[in-house]
Amino acid sequence: MILEDVNNQEAALEREFNPWLAAETRFNEAALRLGLDDGLTKVLRSPAMEVTVHIPVGLDDGRLEVFTGYRVQHSLARGPAKGGIRFAPDVTLDEVRALSSWMTWKCAVVNIPFGGGKGGVICDPKILSPGELERITRRYTAELMDILGPERDVPAPDMNTNEQTMAWIMDTYSMHKRHTVTAVVTGKPLNLGGSRGRPAATGRGCRIVTLEALKRFGLTPADTEVVIQGFGNVGGMAARLMHESGLKIIAIIEYDGAVYNPRGINPFELEKHRQATGSITHFAGGEDMDPQEALFLPCDVLVPAARENVIHSQNAGKIQAKILCEGANGPTTAQADKILEDKGVFVIPDILANAGGVTVSYFEWVQDRQGYFWNEALVNERLEEIMVNSFNDVVAFADSHKVNNRTAAYMVALDRVAFAIRLRGIYA
Ligand code: GLU
Repeated sequence: MILEDVNNQEAALEREFNPWLAAETRFNEAALRLGLDDGLTKVLRSPAMEVTVHIPVGLDDGRLEVFTGYRVQHSLARGPAKGGIRFAPDVTLDEVRALSSWMTWKCAVVNIPFGGGKGGVICDPKILSPGELERITRRYTAELMDILGPERDVPAPDMNTNEQTMAWIMDTYSMHKRHTVTAVVTGKPLNLGGSRGRPAATGRGCRIVTLEALKRFGLTPADTEVVIQGFGNVGGMAARLMHESGLKIIAIIEYDGAVYNPRGINPFELEKHRQATGSITHFAGGEDMDPQEALFLPCDVLVPAARENVIHSQNAGKIQAKILCEGANGPTTAQADKILEDKGVFVIPDILANAGGVTVSYFEWVQDRQGYFWNEALVNERLEEIMVNSFNDVVAFADSHKVNNRTAAYMVALDRVAFAIRLRGIYA
């Protein structure tokens, strides 16, 4: 290939991997099919508010560093902005903007009374001490004081943030308000206003929609072979719960290797092995496999639950799964959608498949505001009801409008947000 072609191909892939362009492509298709007028389309597309903060933080060695953070509130039409905060060295405003719009559509697909938001801080949590992470989190929260709040914008964990991060946000916000405000963030520790069932909720939601999809294929759990990419909060939990339901997990893929066993992997044993050795490789209950190849194994269900853009125009043709359950946000590029559709893959799109997390965040916010906490069985029962109803709404829409599931999910979501905006009207 000549250099110019290589450069063109790289530029095309860079565009394909830009999450904001990916979000736009899906949005445009749904808006067009819904026949939304131009004005409303502009309102739905545009983020309501984007804030950039440059936060000075003292490092452990005495140096002063400045970190850049973002918070984007994409929509407040159906309720307070809702969505996680990620810490990563490569966070960009485009990414946070795209993720915030996905949160708007996600909350609308599962019909919970929130808009969408997302935050990010450019930092490398791997090289920061707990004290440095705490100071970054607290200063970031203090800078955003005026735009956060249980009725305005409610953050949650996302990549590289966790219960501890949420406890620091809750505490910082509460110190400024002079009283404890638990409902300002979700995904908190249980004894600080967290909800039972929240840590498992995203993986549990993936299991619920996968079991619904299996019914459409006439597959019983025992006949079902699953490949899972990611063995963290989402993938690890999905693996354990699917294993408990009798599905056979034939491969688990992590960034540093993959495990394969056609007779089935026990994810509980694999977790023990990882705890002991620091990696999923060299596991006695399976054989090591190239993580790139494992994604293309023949299977019934593939659950990408790790990163964005793992299925793209250059590799989508090699996917051999019948069902794709998107545990991660944005694991499939817009260009790959068409290839998967032509292959007849039944896609459970991210804004539906991984909505279990934000659904239980909603339950957490409700419980905090009531000061009355539910038992885990009740949380799981209500999660199941919402996920099954949302799955049925999306596939019924796809069937009746002859569109793929992703377009259907976006159409259902856009229609709900557009409805709210029309009813509220535009304040001038
Ligand atoms: N970060 C999660 C997501 O992308 C959870 C968001 C939340 O609970 O607000 O859905």
